[in-house]
Amino acid sequence: MKHNNISIFVTHVGCPHMCAFCDQHKITGSSDIPHCDDVKRICSQALSQIDDPEKTEIAFFGGSFTAVPKEYMLELLEAASGFIGDGKFKGIRISTRPDYIDEQVLDILKQYGVTSIELGAQSLCDEVLSANERGHSEQDVIDACRLINQYGFELGLQMMVGLYKSSIDRELYTAQRITELAPKTVRIYPVVVLEGTKLAELYRSGVYELLPFNTVVELCAVMLKKFYCAGINVIKLGLHASELVEKNIVAGYYHPAFNELVQSTIFFDGINSSIKDQKEITLFVNSRSLSVAAGHKKSNMKKLEEAGVKCIICTDDSLSRQEIKINGEIINVFKITGNSGIQVVSGQD
Ligand code: SF4
Repeated sequence: MKHNNISIFVTHVGCPHMCAFCDQHKITGSSDIPHCDDVKRICSQALSQIDDPEKTEIAFFGGSFTAVPKEYMLELLEAASGFIGDGKFKGIRISTRPDYIDEQVLDILKQYGVTSIELGAQSLCDEVLSANERGHSEQDVIDACRLINQYGFELGLQMMVGLYKSSIDRELYTAQRITELAPKTVRIYPVVVLEGTKLAELYRSGVYELLPFNTVVELCAVMLKKFYCAGINVIKLGLHASELVEKNIVAGYYHPAFNELVQSTIFFDGINSSIKDQKEITLFVNSRSLSVAAGHKKSNMKKLEEAGVKCIICTDDSLSRQEIKINGEIINVFKITGNSGIQVVSGQD
């Protein structure tokens, strides 16, 4: 089902941390904090414009919602809760840190109509969490997930790929642990090193060496397939294209079409593993997958051509968006594993 949010950004207010990668003001583009009148205005405006409010959540993003002063959190929840149910919105979605979840907080969130909680896990490897000054552990994530599930909230997890002291093994470990925690949704953010952050200092001093861009694209392809096969909905892959972020980038994995690059990689793997020794193929895909099957800027077509394979692409909307058809055989490219080109060296850490 399509996922809609009315996003209200609660920036750094009350956040007791300064993670090595974070500058919320640059990411959200705002340092103003919303108050109850702003929430009511945004919600009533959205209610008059949105066709299917019962499929839409009011989403407090951009900071650590349950770490803000309690009176302020209650002010926002009180304002939003008036727009829930009875032909209005489906519920409230919040994002927060794993170490600011306990029974008392969850009781309050339940009372005000919060339906979904997204945790910024970022990594499930303690060495990476500590090196990036997250201030919480893998165990904090596990404990928070358990509690959120017990209370019946929809669980979402956010992870970052390519943080300081990360590695291919550590990323794959995080993806595996996330799969075991079985969230409903995941957001994958490849790291973008922003001006003014600790990561920018570490990068400039040469201590923080980034994994190659293509490795991160391939890692994300592996993760996307893994989450798909586990029935976990990846609702975001890559940062939103934004002028503000682009102006402040020092290094990292920012690309305005990052999601498309990853999906193109998955499709290329699928096509490549299906063509066997043929030199001419007709490939059928759903019309909505045409551009990712052809590859970003037709990169998949070019790679096939370089390999001496002539490929004609046709559309067939009886196929799902993840399927391809070659020689009458239908293959779900998201279900093909182990051929992404990433060589995982176990025990690397
Ligand atoms: S906890 Fe969240 S808002 Fe606070 S510094 Fe870290 S990433 Fe930024």
